[in-house]
Amino acid sequence: MTRIAILGGGPAGVGGAYKLRLGDKGDVVLFERNAHFGGNSGSFEHAEHWLDFGSHRLHPACDPMILADVKELLGDDLLDRPRHGRIRLLGKWVHFPLKPADLLLHLDKSFAIGSFADAVKKMVAKPDEGTTFASVLYANLGKTICEHFYFPYAVKLWGHPPEALSGIQARKRVSAASFLKLVRKVLSAVPGLKPPGSGRFFYPRQGFGQISAAYAERAEALGADLRRETKVTELVPPASDAEGWRITSERNGTTEAQEFDHVFSTIPLTVLVRAMGERVAPEVVEAARAIDYRAMILIYLELPVDQFTEYDAHYFPGADVAITRLSEPKNYAARSVPRERTMLCAELPCMRGDATWNATDEELGKLLVRDLEHSGLPLPAEPVGVTTRRLPQAYPIYLEGYEAPYSVLDAWSSSLPRFVSYGRQGLFAHDNTHHALAMAYAAADCLEDGRFDRETWDRHRERFAKHVVED
Ligand SMILES: Cc1cc2nc3c(=O)[nH]c(=O)nc-3n(C[C@H](O)[C@H](O)[C@H](O)COP(=O)(O)OP(=O)(O)OC[C@H]3O[C@@H](n4cnc5c(N)ncnc54)[C@H](O)[C@@H]3O)c2cc1C
Repeated sequence: MTRIAILGGGPAGVGGAYKLRLGDKGDVVLFERNAHFGGNSGSFEHAEHWLDFGSHRLHPACDPMILADVKELLGDDLLDRPRHGRIRLLGKWVHFPLKPADLLLHLDKSFAIGSFADAVKKMVAKPDEGTTFASVLYANLGKTICEHFYFPYAVKLWGHPPEALSGIQARKRVSAASFLKLVRKVLSAVPGLKPPGSGRFFYPRQGFGQISAAYAERAEALGADLRRETKVTELVPPASDAEGWRITSERNGTTEAQEFDHVFSTIPLTVLVRAMGERVAPEVVEAARAIDYRAMILIYLELPVDQFTEYDAHYFPGADVAITRLSEPKNYAARSVPRERTMLCAELPCMRGDATWNATDEELGKLLVRDLEHSGLPLPAEPVGVTTRRLPQAYPIYLEGYEAPYSVLDAWSSSLPRFVSYGRQGLFAHDNTHHALAMAYAAADCLEDGRFDRETWDRHRERFAKHVVED
């Protein structure tokens, strides 16, 4: 029987374990360093609340075959919810997703006039797109939207000025990257013009992590060996065709080494390079040092009230506050319990090891209260508790020219025998959960009779490159 190791238990990992066992492709052992499955898409229970690592929703753009599996796995626990968020733009709140009537009523007039003038100017003469995040968006959307929305938001999300970021970040990450796309987005909220699923999302009753937990549970029922709190510490590639990969993992201070025929890796490429140690060529180590992921702190504030606001999420693109988004998980899942208590979850991007990353819960709680007061959202009562969680790899950072080191890493990982790197961290991609699942299904399909079909995988990779990230 083919022995397959899966590194990482996010959606890409647990989705792969499920698909490999469903197709009876071999014995599967999955290693996940955390106590929960789901990675960044996981959930945890705290003081009777189900909490996610930031605002997460399953988008209806999900591949219908995968959506059918998620529906079958979750049954009645998968809710179909309307989207109901708000963006703070020049001190005013506009509905998100954008709606024409709401824009007319609430959009700051100078912003509306400026954007309209920019659209007209662009029709007369479109500037050169250039190669940076700043130049691509400036050419397509003009000064007003860039300076008041995308540029300050980019600095907060990725930690670099828009001029230092790659134009690919704009093309991949900004779904309304032109006036035409923006107009289409606004019109998609109009009854009669609405595409199916527009303005809606799927969400499980017990938090977004219930999707990964259900995949993990089904994979285990199909015979996969899924190991939590088990960190992969070392990988030794096979020295010949007759040998397997040797993988060392650590759990509660105990290390174990096992042999596998194939490795399905979903852990960050940078972590993978470290785990391979001195077996990696210096130029690959150098390339791994040249790319990085933005980290994130989630600040959860418990309030002694039934509901803070009716909105599922608030977006804060402005430079005047540090947080980027605030969600109220109870609203997401239409939960009425716990009564007289609700939880807020704020997203605060940072870098691992910086002053924000090392701040105490008390300091982070105060920062959140300050940001909310400044945004006209004062707390209705003293918070009864603050807790935080940290994501070391929240977003890949596409610096201008990142393609060069990334392609060195990609070529290296693709050349490893009986090895595939995929998922958001494994392909350094800004992908959604449904994309990570699609990659997992494709990778499992490529393994047939103990042989990984790399040509078919490369064709899948071309398809993945066209993934459109949903917000
Ligand atoms: C704030 C935020 C909001 C988001 N909102 C949405 C949304 O609304 N909708 C959506 O579809 N997507 C959303 N996403 C994206 C979504 O979280 C990812 O697409 C998804 O989690 C990617 O899955 P993955 O398995 O590829 O990677 P991950 O979820 O990152 O999983 C990788 C796993 O590898 C494990 N790992 C790492 N190193 C090791 C090691 N050495 N040994 C063992 N295990 C290891 C990690 O612990 C982790 O569990 C959001 C992301 C963020 C950060």
